[in-house]
Amino acid sequence: MHDKETTSFMRSLCMGRIEQDVICPFPVMSDSQKETLTDISGALEGLLGPRAEDFRKWDVAGELPEDFIDELREFGMFGLIISEDHGGMGLGNMAYSRTLQEVAKYDASVAVTIGAHSSIGMRGLLLFGTDEQNERYMPRLATGEMIAAYCLTEPGAGSDAAAVKTTAVKEGDHWVINGNKLWITNGGIADFFTVFAKTHEEGGRGKMTAFIVTKDMEGVSVGPHEDKMGLRTNPTTTVHFDGVRVPDANVLGEVGQGFKVAMMILNSGRTGLGGGSVGAMKRLIELSTKQANERTTFGEPISSYGLIKKKVGQMVIDCYTSEAVVTMVGGLIDAGYKEYQVEAAISKVYATECLWKTADEALQIAGGNGFMREYPYERVVRDCRINRIFEGTSEILRLLIALTAMNDVASQLQELSSTMKDIFNNPIKGFGVLSDYARKHAALRTGIGGERGFQKLNDAIQEQAKIFEEETRYLAQATDRILRKHGKSIIGKQLASHRLAEIMIDLFVMACTISRVQGSIDADGVEGASLEIQILKTFTREAKIRIKHNFRRIDSNDDEIVKALADDAFEAERFRWDTI
Ligand SMILES: Cc1cc2nc3c(=O)[nH]c(=O)nc-3n(C[C@H](O)[C@H](O)[C@H](O)COP(=O)(O)OP(=O)(O)OC[C@H]3O[C@@H](n4cnc5c(N)ncnc54)[C@H](O)[C@@H]3O)c2cc1C
Repeated sequence: MHDKETTSFMRSLCMGRIEQDVICPFPVMSDSQKETLTDISGALEGLLGPRAEDFRKWDVAGELPEDFIDELREFGMFGLIISEDHGGMGLGNMAYSRTLQEVAKYDASVAVTIGAHSSIGMRGLLLFGTDEQNERYMPRLATGEMIAAYCLTEPGAGSDAAAVKTTAVKEGDHWVINGNKLWITNGGIADFFTVFAKTHEEGGRGKMTAFIVTKDMEGVSVGPHEDKMGLRTNPTTTVHFDGVRVPDANVLGEVGQGFKVAMMILNSGRTGLGGGSVGAMKRLIELSTKQANERTTFGEPISSYGLIKKKVGQMVIDCYTSEAVVTMVGGLIDAGYKEYQVEAAISKVYATECLWKTADEALQIAGGNGFMREYPYERVVRDCRINRIFEGTSEILRLLIALTAMNDVASQLQELSSTMKDIFNNPIKGFGVLSDYARKHAALRTGIGGERGFQKLNDAIQEQAKIFEEETRYLAQATDRILRKHGKSIIGKQLASHRLAEIMIDLFVMACTISRVQGSIDADGVEGASLEIQILKTFTREAKIRIKHNFRRIDSNDDEIVKALADDAFEAERFRWDTI
C-alpha cells in the first residue's frame, strides 16, 4: 500500500519506478456521483442548451446579465464542491471536473465564472478554513449569495507571484491591507475575496499570508469590467484594498504561509480548467463532424477527404487522452493522494494545449465561416487562448514539472545531492561518490535493478506498455544526464528543462491512456474497446518519436544559436533584414 502523503506516480517515474497501483485501475465515479452528474447534466442542457444565441450576443456586448447569474445560483452552480452539510452538492474532484466539462460545452465564460468561484476563489477556505470560518461563509458561498474570487496577480506580480506588493500590517487584532490586484476573474460580482498580501519583509521578497476579505469591508473597491479578447462576459476587474481592516479571524492558513496556500489552491483547482477544456473539445468535435458532413466541395462532402479526416482523427485522440489525464488527476485527489502537483500541472498544460489545437483545426474545417462571428468557432478560439496563460502559464508549469523531477533525483541520490558542490567544483574530492553514483547510473541505463512496471494488462496493449517501460528508462537517463551536464546551473537552462518536461508530459499521458484503455477492455472486451486501443497505439507511436527526439536533443541542439539570435533581436529591438 502506498503512502498517500508522499507517493507521486511521476516523481517515482523519474527515479525509474513505475507505480502501477497508483494509476490502475482507472478511476471511476461512485454510482451515487454518477447519478448526481446525470441529473446535473440534464438540468444544464435545459438551462444552457437553448441559450446559444444569448451567449453569442452577450459575448459581443461583453456582459453577463444579472438574471442569468441568478439562474446559475438557483441551479446550485456555486455549491458544487461545498459539503451537503453546508448546503452544497459535495462533489468530489472528478465529478466537479466533469460538471465543468458539461458547462464548457455551451459557453466558456459561464464555465469560468463557475470555475473561478470553486476552483480558486473559495478553494482556500475548503482546504485551509477553520470550522468557524467554514460556518461563517460556506452556506452563503454554496447558494451563490456570495460569489468568490482569487486575488493574487498584481501589475508587477504575475508568474512571479512572490513579488506581490500588497501589504497587510498587524494592528491589534486586525490586519490593515493596502494594495491593488489585477485581472481578477469574477471581480465585478464577487463578495468573497481570497487575498494574498505580504506580512513579513525579508530581503525585499517578503512572506505572504492569505486573507478572507469581503466586499462589505470598508476600503474594498473594484474597477470596470475589462474589455478582453475572450471570456468577454466574465466580469474580470481590478480589485483595490485601501486601508481595509481585516480581523485576525480571517487569516486563511498560517501567517507567513500564503505562497504555499496560493500554490496549493491552484494545484487542487487545476482539474476544473482541465475539465472545461475537455468539454470544449467534445463540443468542437460535434460541430466539426457535422460541418464536415454537410459541406460539399468538388462534389464530395469534405468529411471524405484525407486531410480533413486527419484533423478530426487527431481531435479525437487529443480529447480522449486529455480526458484520461484530467480524470486521472481528479481520481488521485479523490483517492486522498497529496503529492499530485506534477501530475496536475501536466494535466493543465496538456488539456489546455490540446484544446487550443482542436479549436484552431475546428475553425479551419469550417473555412471562411469559421472566421465569422455568426458561427461559434472564432469565439472558442478567443475564449480558450487565455487557458495557456492563467492559473500558471505553460512555460512556468513546464519548468515546475521538470525542476521538481530533477530536484527529486538530485536529493534522492543522496550522494549527488550532498556533494553536488564538490562534484562540480572539485571533481577529485567527489570522485568516490561519483563511482558509487555511476553504479546507480548504470542501473538506470540498463534498467537492471529497476522495478518492472505494468503487470496484468491485456495482451492487446502489451506492446504499448513495453514502449512505456522503455521510454521510462529514457526519462530516468535524461534527468540524470541533464543534471550531470548542467549541475547547479540547471535553473538557468530552460531549454534543457523544457525537453525533460516534454518527455514527462508524454509519459504521463501515455500511462493514463493505458490505464483508461485497460479499464475499457475490462468493461467491454477487446472488441468493444477496439477504437480506444487504436487511439492508444497511435498516441504511443507518436509519443515515442517525440521522446526519442527530445532525448537526442539534450546533447545535440541549436539552443545557443537560437538564444544568440534572440539576444541580437533584443538588442536591436527590430528585425534586422528588412528589404526596403
Ligand atoms: C482573463 C484573465 C483572468 C485572470 N484571472 C485571474 C484571477 O482570477 N486571479 C489572479 O490572481 N490572476 C488572474 N489572472 C492573471 C494571470 O494569472 C496572469 O496573467 C498569469 O499568471 C501570467 O502573469 P503575467 O500576465 O504577469 O505574465 P508574466 O509573468 O509577465 O509572463 C509573460 C511571459 O513570460 C513568461 N515567463 C515569465 N517568467 C518566466 C520565466 N521565469 N521563465 C520563462 N518564461 C517566463 C510567461 O510564461 C509569459 O509567457 C488573469 C489573467 C487574465 C488575462
